[in-house]
Formats: sequence, structure tokens, C-alpha cells
Amino acid sequence: MSVLELRSISKVYGRGAAEVQALRDISMSVPAGMMVAVMGPSGSGKSSLLTIAGTLEEPTSGAVLINGQDVERMSNGAKARVRRRTIGYVFQDFNLLPGLTAAENVSLPLELDGMSARRAHLAGLKALEDLGLGDQARRFPDQLSGGERQRVAIARAVVGDRSLLLADEPSGALDSANGESVMRLIHTYCKRGTAAVVVTHDAQLASWADRVVFLRDGRVVDQTMPPAGPETLLEQPS
Ligand code: ADP
Ligand code: MG
Repeated sequence: MSVLELRSISKVYGRGAAEVQALRDISMSVPAGMMVAVMGPSGSGKSSLLTIAGTLEEPTSGAVLINGQDVERMSNGAKARVRRRTIGYVFQDFNLLPGLTAAENVSLPLELDGMSARRAHLAGLKALEDLGLGDQARRFPDQLSGGERQRVAIARAVVGDRSLLLADEPSGALDSANGESVMRLIHTYCKRGTAAVVVTHDAQLASWADRVVFLRDGRVVDQTMPPAGPETLLEQPS
């Protein structure tokens, strides 16, 4: 069973003369452990695809299944739970809360989900330590570099063992070394069993993915399985 399944998704924004068809008949299946990169020019529907996959917006037609469950048939409570527990989101501009430390930013979703502050804090610290950010746990976002902030945002998105990671140009505001380390990190989570869909405009970064989907005018125009991503080079014996 796929963690994420999109069945013939179409999305129309606006009406009449202002009507925009953002997505046209998109189908996609992302099993546990798979990292999919989505590429395409500006306006091709990448963000629309991600917000619909993340249940933040409804498709005009078609179905979204999360762990086999049709989102349209879920109660509002069940949908909210899926957003809190199953799906993690990472955005280009990090979206960290400036008044909270790194550790507090990461533990917040767990607390919102009902975990005690103490347990949430410990889980947040652990997630930061896993990313090599243990020493930065007490810092506020403006005391962190861009690369560190994005790693905190990724820790927040995966904390609590979520099964689907959705990232919209997570490396868009980073230099190439930090962009590379963000993709490597997402790749590592996928090897542990997370499913991920990552939008990027950088072909080099997309090569971290198991599959690359190309969008144009809301349609899938091509899909590839990169023969040798950077990880296979790293795995070669020296
Ligand atoms: P991308 O992320 O690839 O740049 P988007 O998914 O943001 O593309 O946008 C796809 C198309 O849908 C664009 O033409 C965009 O203007 C339009 N669009 C996206 N969101 C909205 C919205 N909320 N209202 C109206 N049009 C939108
Ligand atoms: Mg976009």
C-alpha cells in the first residue's frame, strides 16, 4: 500500500475568464521509503500538487489517498489528525516561529498533538541531535544560519515518526552546499521508511530522488528513475 496515492487529480482555480487549470489528470503513487522529486517551470503546478497531496487544499476532481484512506471520505477530525501526525511539511522560507527556540519549534507539533511538554521537549531534542543540531537547541531562529534553520524545519516535519514528508523547494533559499545537505537529509529519512515528495528546480539536487516527475502546464510530461544518484557514488568502496 502506498503512503500517498493521487488518482487522476485535476485542480481548477477561479472561474470564467479568470479560470486557471493548475493540474490536469495527475496520478502518482509514493510507497514508504521512496523519495520523489517534482520539477517543472514556474506555474506548472508543483505547489498545487503538494498542497493537495498534503490535504491542505481539495482537488477539483480525483482522489487523494493517505495510507490507503480516501481523504474526501475522512471526517474533519480524522483529516486534522492526518495533518498533525502523518504528514510533515517543509517550505522554502522555513516558517519557524521566531519567538521559540529551535527545540521549542520542533516540539511544538507534538505538544499540539497532546504530548506532555516534557516528553515533547525530549523528542524535539533527540530530533535535533539526529541532525547534528544538539548544540543549537536553545538558539532562536535568528541565531541560526539558513542551512541550520532549514534543518530545524525538517526536524519539525519528521518528529513523531510521520510517514509522509512534503517539501516545497526546501533548498530554494540555500546555497548549493546547504541545499545538498537538505536533500541528503530527506534521502536519509526515506531510507528509514518515510515517503517524500520534494519540489526542486535544481536537477543536481533532484538526483537524490528515486524518481523525478516533470510537470508542465499541470501535466506530467516525463518521469525518470535516475540511474546513479550521488548516494550511489558515496556507497562505492574506496
Ligand atoms: P508552481 O509551484 O509550479 O510555480 P503553482 O502550483 O503555484 O505552480 O501554480 C500553478 C498555476 O495555478 C499557476 O498558473 C498559478 O497562477 C495558479 N494558482 C496557484 N494557486 C492559485 C490560487 N490560490 N488561486 C488562483 N490561481 C492559483
Ligand atoms: Mg511553487
